[in-house]
Amino acid sequence: MGFPALPQSRHEMVLEPEADSDTERWTCPTCGRVMVVRWFPEFEHVIVRAGDEQAIHTGGKGGAEVGSVAVVAEEGERERAHREWLAENGIAWDGPAA
Ligand SMILES: [Zn+2]
Repeated sequence: MGFPALPQSRHEMVLEPEADSDTERWTCPTCGRVMVVRWFPEFEHVIVRAGDEQAIHTGGKGGAEVGSVAVVAEEGERERAHREWLAENGIAWDGPAA
């Protein structure tokens, strides 16, 4: 995929309790990266402090990773658009209905 085949350290970011419930503040205890994530009205994230930009940053929240959540949402949106387009053209994506 997109990652270069170089040895990269993997940092797990930690969600800090935030008074403002619309945003989440993630920090990396390893390099000090700070990222603010907003879920509504649409997903947005701001890197407040870059930290180690070479490292792969993941965030744990109920087993989901922040990065992959965003990607999955995008994929789902695109796939749904494809399904709708196919349906409009008389093609059933999931095969003929039983
Ligand atoms: Zn880090």
